[in-house]
Amino acid sequence: MTERPLVLLDVDGVLNPARRATLRHRRHDIVLDGRTFRVLLSARQGRGLLALAEATGAELVWATTWEDHANTEIGPRLGLPPLPVIAVNGDPGSRAGEHFKTRHVAEYVAGRPFVWFDDSLGIADWEYLKDHPGVGDFLLVEVDPEDGLTDGDMTHAGDWLAARAAGVDDAGTCSPEPAP
Ligand SMILES: [Mg+2]
Repeated sequence: MTERPLVLLDVDGVLNPARRATLRHRRHDIVLDGRTFRVLLSARQGRGLLALAEATGAELVWATTWEDHANTEIGPRLGLPPLPVIAVNGDPGSRAGEHFKTRHVAEYVAGRPFVWFDDSLGIADWEYLKDHPGVGDFLLVEVDPEDGLTDGDMTHAGDWLAARAAGVDDAGTCSPEPAP
């Protein structure tokens, strides 16, 4: 039996690109604890993520230093319902070059397959996850922080999840290989 996959969402550099990547990205001034954060968000991306989850049976989850603020400040502006939150703040740091979120993600996923959209991932994260007990199939989608999440990134994720659901790549942790 296949467990329901997860789609992990970063905010800064993914849903909030460094520059106004499309005309649909609107600027929002979000005030938290007296500080103002200028955030660029596209509601189209919220719809796209909901469609991805619907089409693949995946669950959307926040994996961002915004933590619970993602549900109050980011999700509603994207048309997303409240989502589960992976606690990633307050970490002492990396042990082997992996991102500070990666150990929290490894614990949270508890063997469920997952796609992770983030702009700070690299080979150290892949190596950490592939050898970590209890981590199953996963796809890291390294997003360019200048443009944020693209349609190509979403398609990549959707294709991987669909192939997995079809049993193309039950054992691996990479994108499926074409049949010989
Ligand atoms: Mg980021």
